[in-house]
Amino acid sequence: MTELIKFLEPNAQIISKRSSIISGLAEILPDDCLITDERELVPFETDAFIAYRRLPLAVVLPETTEQVAEVVKYCHEHEVPIVPRGAGTSLAGGAIPQEDAIVIGLSKMNRILDVDLANRCAVVQAGVTNIAISQETDSEGFFYAPDPSSQLACTIGGNIGMNSGGAHCLKYGVTTNNLLALKMVMFDGTVIDLGGKALDMPGYDLIGLLCGSEGQMGIITEATVKLLAKPEGAKPVLFGFDTPEDAGRCVRDVIGAGIIPVAIEYMDKPAIEICEAFANAGYPMDVEALLIVEVEGSEAEMDAMLDKIIQVAKTHNVKTVKESQSAFEAALIWKGRKSAFGATGRIADYMCMDGTVPLSQLAFVLEGTAKIIEKYGLRVANVFHAGDGNMHPLILFNMNDPEESVKAEQAGMDILRLCVDAGGCLTGEHGVGIEKRDLMTHQYSKEDLDQQMAVRAAFDPQWIFNPSKVFPLEVREDA
Ligand SMILES: Cc1cc2nc3c(=O)[nH]c(=O)nc-3n(C[C@H](O)[C@H](O)[C@H](O)COP(=O)(O)OP(=O)(O)OC[C@H]3O[C@@H](n4cnc5c(N)ncnc54)[C@H](O)[C@@H]3O)c2cc1C
Repeated sequence: MTELIKFLEPNAQIISKRSSIISGLAEILPDDCLITDERELVPFETDAFIAYRRLPLAVVLPETTEQVAEVVKYCHEHEVPIVPRGAGTSLAGGAIPQEDAIVIGLSKMNRILDVDLANRCAVVQAGVTNIAISQETDSEGFFYAPDPSSQLACTIGGNIGMNSGGAHCLKYGVTTNNLLALKMVMFDGTVIDLGGKALDMPGYDLIGLLCGSEGQMGIITEATVKLLAKPEGAKPVLFGFDTPEDAGRCVRDVIGAGIIPVAIEYMDKPAIEICEAFANAGYPMDVEALLIVEVEGSEAEMDAMLDKIIQVAKTHNVKTVKESQSAFEAALIWKGRKSAFGATGRIADYMCMDGTVPLSQLAFVLEGTAKIIEKYGLRVANVFHAGDGNMHPLILFNMNDPEESVKAEQAGMDILRLCVDAGGCLTGEHGVGIEKRDLMTHQYSKEDLDQQMAVRAAFDPQWIFNPSKVFPLEVREDA
């Protein structure tokens, strides 16, 4: 694949000191927490943004906050870059290492330390998977709300790194809205605690700042997250339309009428076909666009909300309305939606874009996306969090065809520019990483970026944490 995105040049001095750095790390960590063999480093060379790969200098897999702090202190003293890593499911290349970096993987720190129902929260290590928290608290009638489709694998540390969202974040908010406290290792190995179990803490909202900082301000080792009581009932309902524009306008008008269901997810025809073939979810096949709308509460509450949504949908020529009739059917509907990326991977390589637009622009941006895809002679499947305006065009291409790969990247960049130009932004939930780094100048002025980089430098004066991400190389003085 041709590389359109440039990495920082590896620091030759660090590479030349490779063996002494590895010996230094070996003194800090037990043998089974350090990987240096090239073959064993391969699983860490990329993440879910698979177009780009770099082998790191070494991977460390600490088991305690103290070990993380020792490794960070060592890297600080020897100016070795660090790339924090959870499960490596980032779609923006956030966890892709660079050749002179140490990857600190949090996967061994995967314990739920405390479930505190009186305070409706759980204290977890950063390597706990997203879904494990809801599984642990389900029998008590609680759950952790943000639900990325990757929730079987992705970690809370990675979710905080990217401020991740999911289908049910329309009602419950994304990671930052469900976070109470953090334990974090700073650039010099100091460990800090921020926040607590009380709802709001005095002083600056540093948790808000750190959530979404893409591994550039420190390494999170523990988090306290909110738990919510499970609703009395919930059901997804399928709304089919003859045009994407009708579906887009329906979303705009549902939200505009003050109706907030738990989720409004969108699929276009290619996405419906791909997901139905995978999950047999019962999606209508004679429509061009599908909305999965989930309502929750008592039967009466669900019916009342559904009535209002159907009224709005009728004004946009809704063709099919199909309620799930059982928990089994509801699970299949969500299985289809949440497997969309994996199911797409069965038929083609794909690049998943992640732009967000004001709801009033949904229909316009869907149309514009189709034009861009046509211009490059590619195919697209759209499946996304419509209620949040968070679009995910999956651009289909053949990674073994260099020309088509470049076209796919260029089409993706054009779509993201369209989102910004429509009053939206480059990312809704996947982060900037390396993928959208060079488009940050399309979103922000030099002055805006200088401010952000100054805040970053206050947390990481040497820029050793995940250095080649988020900020375009040309606006950085050190690159
Ligand atoms: C099939 C699929 C579906 C997806 N669906 C969604 C979705 O619905 N919603 C969504 O938001 N995302 C989704 N994603 C993207 C991805 O899963 C999220 O970004 C997720 O939060 C990444 O978690 P991770 O543990 O894999 O982190 P990684 O990919 O390992 O890392 C992500 C970023 O966080 C940083 N980081 C990781 N751990 C720490 C830590 N402990 N301290 C500091 N920084 C850290 C990394 O340096 C990196 O910048 C999907 C991905 C896939 C492959």
